[in-house]
Amino acid sequence: MDWSLATAIAALAAACAALAWLWRRLRRLESERLDERRRARAGRRRLLDLLRAYRALADALPDAVIVAERNSQRIVWFNPAATRLLGLRQPRDIDAPLGECLQAWPIARWLAAGRMAEPMGDLPSPISPEVRLSLRLVPYSPEHWLLIVRDVTRLERLEHMRRDFVANVSHELRTPLTVVHGYLEMLDPAEHPDWAPMLAEMQRQSQRMTQLVEDLLTLSRLESRDAVPEETVAMAPLLATLQREAEALSQGAHEIGVEDVAQVDLAGSQHELHSAFSNLVSNAVRYTPAGGRIGIRLARTADGGAELAVTDTGQGIAPEHLPRLTERFYRVSTSRSRESGGTGLGLAIVKHVLGLHQAQLRIESEPGAGSRFACVFGPGRVVARKRRIGGTA
Ligand code: ADP
Repeated sequence: MDWSLATAIAALAAACAALAWLWRRLRRLESERLDERRRARAGRRRLLDLLRAYRALADALPDAVIVAERNSQRIVWFNPAATRLLGLRQPRDIDAPLGECLQAWPIARWLAAGRMAEPMGDLPSPISPEVRLSLRLVPYSPEHWLLIVRDVTRLERLEHMRRDFVANVSHELRTPLTVVHGYLEMLDPAEHPDWAPMLAEMQRQSQRMTQLVEDLLTLSRLESRDAVPEETVAMAPLLATLQREAEALSQGAHEIGVEDVAQVDLAGSQHELHSAFSNLVSNAVRYTPAGGRIGIRLARTADGGAELAVTDTGQGIAPEHLPRLTERFYRVSTSRSRESGGTGLGLAIVKHVLGLHQAQLRIESEPGAGSRFACVFGPGRVVARKRRIGGTA
């Protein structure tokens, strides 16, 4: 073989090898490209499936869900339940201002008042007043609000039935109890020495039952109200009344002090506020052993509101009981509370009265040292005290 042929064959072999290498590389690249495309397609499919699942979820939700822009308050998206419960329509209401679509509700006032955390309950649906709704606004991103609206018609109806039932039973019990109580009061234990202990116990128990029925009726009355009369409650005479009540109940067993450092009055219901404060004072006396100190103090709060605090140096309450104290019939120690003559409804009444005044009950207590029950009113409830000529309040 001459050299030129050998060189040509070698060159051909080298070219073939290069071509084969190139071919293999191209095949690999092609298969990688195909894999990549397959992966992208699978990714797209997964994303679509996820989107479909989210959409099905939003469609299946019984609650209306609306997404609105925070600044403009324009509607960005809503689910089919929003059409059913609120009458919103696609595409008409997309991009429409929330307040305009739900004119029946004070959405703008609600936002301005910063009442986002608590749900607004028992509102009539804009399309059917028998349907009662509860709504909640959730700031879920820096740009968007989420408005969640729930149909609470059935729940409200059940709650109504419960309220009516308790009110009716209490009302029906009132007359027979008054009769029994009246007759028992007419019997003087001194005239019936054999029956004296039993008569005294019967009188005590009928008094307790009468008080229970009265407290249940008070609670029913408070529950069925949305607002209280806007009277000016003169606090100086009310503090004096509370002091007299405490002294009558204590019978000289406690040291009772009243302080009026706020020198303001309150706007609200005279009758209900008196009942709430009275309950706190009565508790302080009943749960403080003889020799203890009881304070009633009206002061201003840092935000311009006012606070009526009842403090005692009594038995105190362990921290685990504090969150449940305002529940009906909740008692720290059943036997001791019963002995004290309470009904277990006092603090529930206090909480309701304060709720009607947009006020809060703050409880601080230390077992063995004493308790502090403070009724905290917002600045809107504070009224400047009118001064009589001569400078006294
Ligand atoms: P009651 O009629 O039993 O006093 P309340 O609703 O007024 O019912 O109070 C609930 C419970 O809270 C009481 O049973 C008592 O255990 C506790 N409590 C209320 N006030 C005081 C207080 N000042 N000191 C200690 N415990 C108190």
